[in-house]
Amino acid sequence: MPFRGQPDQLLPNAAPAEPEAGRRSFLTRGGAGIAVALAAGTGSAWAAGPSGADANQVKLPLIQDPNTEQKEETPDANLPPDARIGYAIVGLGRLSLNQILPALAQCKYSKVAALVSGDREKARRVARQYGIADADIHDYQDFERLADNPRVHVVYIVLPNGMHKAFTLRAAKIGKHVLCEKPMANNAADCEAMVEAMKRANRKLMIAYRSQYEPMDRMVAKMVKEKKLGTLREFIAGNSQNVGDPSQWRLKKALAGGGAMPDIGLYCLNAARFLSNEEPMEVVATVHRPQGDPRFAEVEESVHFILRFPSGLTATCMSSYASHESRFFRLQGAQGWVEMDPAFGYNGLRLRHGMLVDGKSATTEVQIDPQNQFAREIDHMSVCVKDDLVPHTPGEEGLQDQRIIDAIYESARTGRAVKLAQPDAPTRGPEPQEETF
Ligand code: NAD
Repeated sequence: MPFRGQPDQLLPNAAPAEPEAGRRSFLTRGGAGIAVALAAGTGSAWAAGPSGADANQVKLPLIQDPNTEQKEETPDANLPPDARIGYAIVGLGRLSLNQILPALAQCKYSKVAALVSGDREKARRVARQYGIADADIHDYQDFERLADNPRVHVVYIVLPNGMHKAFTLRAAKIGKHVLCEKPMANNAADCEAMVEAMKRANRKLMIAYRSQYEPMDRMVAKMVKEKKLGTLREFIAGNSQNVGDPSQWRLKKALAGGGAMPDIGLYCLNAARFLSNEEPMEVVATVHRPQGDPRFAEVEESVHFILRFPSGLTATCMSSYASHESRFFRLQGAQGWVEMDPAFGYNGLRLRHGMLVDGKSATTEVQIDPQNQFAREIDHMSVCVKDDLVPHTPGEEGLQDQRIIDAIYESARTGRAVKLAQPDAPTRGPEPQEETF
């Protein structure tokens, strides 16, 4: 059951509760989301500041997403197993076992149909858990046998980054659609080869940018499109964590492509692009690789980069593999700001919004039913396959990020700003239809 927020819950330190009628109108008139909530707020109760020290700071009640508030469970929308799009999960590492396979159980249009693993015993154990027949277990060598499996429509590549290209090309050859984990590959040339191969095979390629299917991120992107924040000025983001074992593939250049940047810095980069709906025209960056730390013999420990966008927006982003876990972004516009902290995670995301209400600076927390991002992302791919649609995050979206990552490394190497070409065409497909989630 999705979590339902408490309608009358106030932020800590909230302003004195407004009259009941006022609050109700705030919560129920919000059919168009935040904009309407603010309109309802201007005027009476909302202008009342707290009795405390700073009369210019108003804390508003939580804004709840009316769509999720009123959403009924629609079991009829779920396809029966035989009609669902079948996935072969390639690579049974942490992401597959802890997130993707459990998420498939929450999908409406998707099901797991086969497993591809280098460890037969592990694959057998997982297959038993998910009711997969022995015949639907493959190893990496006999991957091509998937061609003869009509239950498999999509190959979901969940392998180290440096293996994404080879498996995408192999999937193209056997005529299967591909959902590929981020980052798409190790460099832009490999991404281009993947896009080309999938086009030639006339199969769909989607990159698994789960945040673009996550409701809070989607609400921020919508607020920006509707100019709720005014002209965008500054995006600030960070994604950091400590990595341990120096022998892991994430610290090997050939398998990972780089260090913090392609793995976790990518979230900041992709968010800067999809939240602003702009493409950067220049980047300047530095990377740090400490001497004597065996973890960073091949890849960078940390990266800082600044993107300049045509509207004047700048994005200042940082990512580190040697810092306490921290994930956040703040998007600052002329008329307001949004802040997600934590951001980018699988759950526990928090979104705050600041704006002017009757000339006073106000903040509120946006509350949306948490939903499984992986299930939404996978179901989106299934809808695209079923209805022959362009995925919202196709190969071109991954390619564009990779072009910028290549430029980030170039800037760090040369100590110069690197110009970025605007893409010839939009890199994202149409917005996913909410009713399909
Ligand atoms: P992992 O190390 O837990 O799993 C990797 C899998 O690949 C293992 O099953 C391993 O046996 C297999 N493998 C095959 N050949 C290998 C080789 N030569 N070296 C190492 N492993 C090999 O990694 P993971 O965390 O599951 O990440 C897999 C992919 O998913 C990566 O591309 C990663 O960036 C991506 N990822 C995405 C998210 C997300 O939120 N979307 C989160 C974590 C990881």
